[in-house]
Amino acid sequence: MTLVGQVYRPPSEAESILIQITEGCSHNKCTYCGMYRGKQFRVKSLVEIEQELLDHARFGPLQRRLFLCDGDALVLSSRRLLPVLDAIRRTLPWIERVGIYGDTRGVLNKTVDQLIQLKEAGLGIVYHGVESGDDETLASIQKGGTRDECIETASRLKKAGILHSVIVLLGVGGVKRSNEHAVNTASLLTEMDPPYVGALTLTVIPEAPLSVLQQNGEFELPEKRQLLKELRTIVAKSNFSNCRFSSNHASNYLPIRSDLPGDKEQVLNIIDTVLASGGEEQLKPEWMRGL
Ligand code: SF4
Repeated sequence: MTLVGQVYRPPSEAESILIQITEGCSHNKCTYCGMYRGKQFRVKSLVEIEQELLDHARFGPLQRRLFLCDGDALVLSSRRLLPVLDAIRRTLPWIERVGIYGDTRGVLNKTVDQLIQLKEAGLGIVYHGVESGDDETLASIQKGGTRDECIETASRLKKAGILHSVIVLLGVGGVKRSNEHAVNTASLLTEMDPPYVGALTLTVIPEAPLSVLQQNGEFELPEKRQLLKELRTIVAKSNFSNCRFSSNHASNYLPIRSDLPGDKEQVLNIIDTVLASGGEEQLKPEWMRGL
């Protein structure tokens, strides 16, 4: 089984079979991201993918979920994705859910009917790095999508019956846009109303262009307490129908797993207690954080 280069998957896909259908990211411009720098974007052939699936089939039904890599694999057309999903059904018929990374580009290049076809062929969940609901922040990090496009993305996935797992990034607006980032992210999440939201905390890594901006003084990462305040604002000001909201990714200082709206008061109390204490005892130490 061949996975080319470093491969990333969402934490909730830790037990899944990983099948690389693209290498790298077709966008590869987000200023905070160093995941696929130096990795040329390539679409794998169906023959290569089928061989990978056959390699996994030899082990039998050990895993029930499968995740399609790399960075924005949903950018492929349905014409390319449908044969992949068909091959998964034929080769690994025990797979119950297929997941994929996708963003506004990958969803909006498909009609609702095409998304329904993908759903019927086995696509169960799209993991979408929304990062911020603040258009100014989105432009500054070169996300390549807008707030309105995120809302349309959520709407099409909902109509197609595909689960939408949204990722937002604490600190990505910098000190300058910290408040706007949090407030606008809360209102965007309310409009999108996805079933899953994961809040991650930005770490500026040397490979990412943001690190140069940080060194030049053009970007300043909010300090820990401000990051917690962003989390608080997002929880306090968002209104979900039914959302599993978590901040238990390795990058976060305060891991939380909740169901909103039911757990809202409890979550706010936890954050307020930490903020009021003034200390850092309840926060994850720097050495335990991951990307
Ligand atoms: S964050 Fe996602 S879309 Fe942006 S460059 Fe990285 S992999 Fe590509």
